[in-house]
Amino acid sequence: MTTNYEPTIGLEIHAELKTKTKMFCCSKNDADATDPNVNICPVCMAHPGTLPVINGEAVRLVLRVGLALGADLADYTEFDRKNYFYPDLPKGYQLSQYEYPLVSGGVLNDVAITRVHLEEDTASSMHAEGVGTTIDYNRAGVPLMELVTEPVIKSSKQAGDFARELQLLLRTLGASDANMEKGQMRVEANVSIAPKATPSSAKESPFGTKVEIKNLNSFRAMERAVEYEIKRQEAVLEKGEPVVQETRGWDEGKQATFPQRVKEGDADYRYFPDPDLPSLKLSEVAELSKESLRVNMPELPWERRDRYLALGVKGDDAQLYVQEPILGGFFEEVIALARADKERVVVASNYIANDLVKLIRDVEERDTGYQSKIGISAQNFIKIIDMVAGKKISSRTAKDLLVETTKSGRDPEEVAKSGNLYQVSAGVDFEAVVTDVISENSAVVDDFKAGKAAALEHLVGQCMKALKGAGNPVVLRELIRKKIA
Ligand code: ADP
Ligand code: MG
Repeated sequence: MTTNYEPTIGLEIHAELKTKTKMFCCSKNDADATDPNVNICPVCMAHPGTLPVINGEAVRLVLRVGLALGADLADYTEFDRKNYFYPDLPKGYQLSQYEYPLVSGGVLNDVAITRVHLEEDTASSMHAEGVGTTIDYNRAGVPLMELVTEPVIKSSKQAGDFARELQLLLRTLGASDANMEKGQMRVEANVSIAPKATPSSAKESPFGTKVEIKNLNSFRAMERAVEYEIKRQEAVLEKGEPVVQETRGWDEGKQATFPQRVKEGDADYRYFPDPDLPSLKLSEVAELSKESLRVNMPELPWERRDRYLALGVKGDDAQLYVQEPILGGFFEEVIALARADKERVVVASNYIANDLVKLIRDVEERDTGYQSKIGISAQNFIKIIDMVAGKKISSRTAKDLLVETTKSGRDPEEVAKSGNLYQVSAGVDFEAVVTDVISENSAVVDDFKAGKAAALEHLVGQCMKALKGAGNPVVLRELIRKKIA
């Protein structure tokens, strides 16, 4: 459907950092704690007389993210109080960064980033019928990174791709587990629409009124919510009504956004620099220099994809390996065994992405987990690849061998030998034999073409005779069919 409006999307993404302790105290940062209120201390509970201390590891992780994004890293930085009254933060304010974020600028997936700053997470509140509200402070004070993009995203798909790429980056850097279902990564999407620019309206502001969508706990939900919101705003404008600037929630059951509250302005928070914490001059901290941050910088997702593409791997498959750790790890082993030989890697990648993936899915459906291992070693796998790439076995045989050895764990070369699966045996070329037999038995070939199934068996028999029993009927039958077709 074409419309007269152009959507604009800007994302605000929070991620809980993977540090041992909380942002300003020594309480454990443990997303998997099962009992409530066990990882707390007088500092994160805001007892009078306690003082916060900055967690250097959290600062380092955010700077590493900034470095990977090609952003500007701050030299001067400070923490500010964001004042609001709600029991999810016992201090009555959240320690965050306002004027001086750690990271400014940068780009990810061609989307310009405004800033990345560091703050503390809030407690989780639960509302239960008859019980009222209970609060778990385990999460209060956990280091939280907030990344804000410029309003430059043009579609729900681009928004989804951006968020997925950020998740990959955070995981690659070890900055966050970034699991959306666990709330370790939380995405808020700002959406507005505006009439499409025409030559005469080109000078007008391109932005319409934005709506912020919260509680999106999967990438799918985010994409759906953005799509829904674009359509909803179009319908509002088409009725001649204005879009209200507000915060909306996403109702997964109804697959619709709903109004939550009218947005308050920044002034309400009365930001000011926290007097209990020192401001930081980062160039004076040796461990936070760019040189130190670069040490042990892993290969980044886009660098890894480029390396795969340079080896001739298809784009979709490269993405699969970067996104799926088990497949990616297996593919790396295969590349090493193939000594990064392009031809072998490409054939291997096709068999992994098409055939092996299906076998894993089968296992997964039967067994329990997503974590299910690949049932064949990279060593055995590459043997099959070498056989098929060297034309010793047909592609049909390779697929069968893959299934068989994944189930049995047997050595594929032994299976091929004992099952007489080789196309070329003791220097005899099966194909040449088949060609000869076909040209010498044209009457039988005509019978076969006329639909006589027995004719095919006769031809196979002739081939077996010529090969002195060293042939494989299955392979021969397939070769004959292919040649006659
Ligand atoms: P606010 O002052 O409401 O917090 P900001 O300018 O700080 O707004 O932007 C917050 C987020 O909203 C950013 O991700 C930004 O890209 C996005 N945003 C700003 N204006 C728009 C708009 N007109 N349409 C869509 N997103 C927008
Ligand atoms: Mg803002």
